Amino acid sequence: MEKNKMLKVLSELNGVPGNETQVKNFLAKELEEVCDTVTYDKIGSVIGKIVGKEEGPRIMIAGHMDEIGFMVTQITKGGYLKVLPLGGWWGQVVLAQQVTVTTSEGKEYRGVIGSKPPHILTPEEVKKPTDIKNIFIDLGVDDKEAVEALGVQIGDMVTPYIEFTEMANPDYLLGKAWDNRIGCLVALDVAKNLKNEEHNNVVYAVGTVQEEVGLRGAGTTANIVNPDVAIAVDVTIATDIPGGDDTCKFGEGPQILVYDGGLVGHRGLRAKMLEVAKKHDIPVQLGHLRRGGTDAGRMSLAHDGAPSVSLCIPSRYIHSHTSMIHRKDYENCVKLVTELVKELDKESVDKLTY
Ligand code: ZN
Repeated sequence: MEKNKMLKVLSELNGVPGNETQVKNFLAKELEEVCDTVTYDKIGSVIGKIVGKEEGPRIMIAGHMDEIGFMVTQITKGGYLKVLPLGGWWGQVVLAQQVTVTTSEGKEYRGVIGSKPPHILTPEEVKKPTDIKNIFIDLGVDDKEAVEALGVQIGDMVTPYIEFTEMANPDYLLGKAWDNRIGCLVALDVAKNLKNEEHNNVVYAVGTVQEEVGLRGAGTTANIVNPDVAIAVDVTIATDIPGGDDTCKFGEGPQILVYDGGLVGHRGLRAKMLEVAKKHDIPVQLGHLRRGGTDAGRMSLAHDGAPSVSLCIPSRYIHSHTSMIHRKDYENCVKLVTELVKELDKESVDKLTY
């Protein structure tokens, strides 16, 4: 599949925590073409295995398949849907946005998150963002019976609706769910690259579930893989915007987190990655997240532990309907992980473990 098509498809697939099937099916099919085996945990994650050397170190590269969204909790008499957030949403970014409601049968309906115009807001309401508890979805039907006739039920998934778009500079890519379909795509691309390369490791390209609600698929898959080295590929927050501090810039390479809410990045693995980046002339940034973590936090604690890092693609406007990434950061991320795997072997991985 052509590169842009791949980005579009992955961005536009719908999958909230606990409902990642669309993404899992797609990813599994792609992995099957390049991996020695494709297996699963019991909660929906997918694990592609590429054997470079049978007894070599186990290197786990994981992207989470879930995106932030909502779950239907109530259908009101008037035919509106009440929802609960899956993942971290802020009231300021949700109003008047379009969504897709997917039924258990797989039917999809367009909805809009209702908003009040300024004319009828109270002075208090004007001052603060909407409480997520108060939002509702309008499917454009008459009443509760009409909603039920569509097959919509409590527990159904609600995802942002927006089409993948190349911006004026076609390296700037707008879409939903870059957090973290881009991480899934990096894991897949690395698997594809390694198909034709010699290396001394057993590589696991993994799509995890339920990251946004507590790194759950990372836990189950890391228990299966028992990694010697683990890399979570995810997104981080680009700060090259008005009011930002410019410490994380678009187009200047993936960012290795030295610290996040769930992990102190492994120093030895980080040093190795920086060495590989330098050798191959791959731009890379160093950064941190005071709050919020990635799957790396959980993978680092599997069994007796694994040197782990969060490797993140700078992204603008994450945890909203519409986010943006830079194509070069994605490409350099794939390059960095591929070259890292090629440089690792039993001896160098042993040296990482202190
Ligand atoms: Zn993420």
